[in-house]
Amino acid sequence: MGANRQKSVDFRGRYTPEAAGAAVSGAEDPAGSRSHNLLLRRRASLMQEPVLVLNATYEPINVTAVRRAMVLMLKGVAQAEELHNSEVHSASHAHRVPSVIRLLAYRHIPQQSRALSRKNILLRDRNTCQFCGGVFPCSELTLDHVVPRSRGGRSSWENLVACCYRCNNGKGDRTPEEAGLKLARRPRPFTLHTSRQLMRLIGHRDERWRKYLFY
Ligand SMILES: [Zn+2]
Repeated sequence: MGANRQKSVDFRGRYTPEAAGAAVSGAEDPAGSRSHNLLLRRRASLMQEPVLVLNATYEPINVTAVRRAMVLMLKGVAQAEELHNSEVHSASHAHRVPSVIRLLAYRHIPQQSRALSRKNILLRDRNTCQFCGGVFPCSELTLDHVVPRSRGGRSSWENLVACCYRCNNGKGDRTPEEAGLKLARRPRPFTLHTSRQLMRLIGHRDERWRKYLFY
């Protein structure tokens, strides 16, 4: 189950460990040993690497990409707390790539700032069908109204879950009880707590994130 849940994180589509390995090892290769194209591709994947964002109080609040993190640093909005082994080169400088950044001014984060969307519901449910427990790519999942719309079920965080097509077809216009299905867990709004759980999943492979996440 543990391995399945890791795979289900939506972020992993973009931030695969393989991509991370390729990006990091790029910096260790002797200069000029690879083709220009390969370097460019590595640089592109490096710019997509995840960066942990801390509030001014060191509280983890978000995950962003290297590219966005470096913009925040250049604007003077954030500073690097932890650095990658890799560098990116501009015309005149080499810049160490951040792994963790911290906002310089405290930002108030509303408890429920996430929009209700298909993407966020799949993220909350970690791409796991809430009826059979199977983990699927986004394209093989749909959203199920736990209480069907025809019965007055609303489109809300509490009534929408990730569902595979097979379970969705089997359930039809019935409640889970009527269809003999059981929800894996009660659906809840996407809160900062949910975000933090996802950060922990992503952060497992990055030592530099741990001291901020595993408290
Ligand atoms: Zn299913």
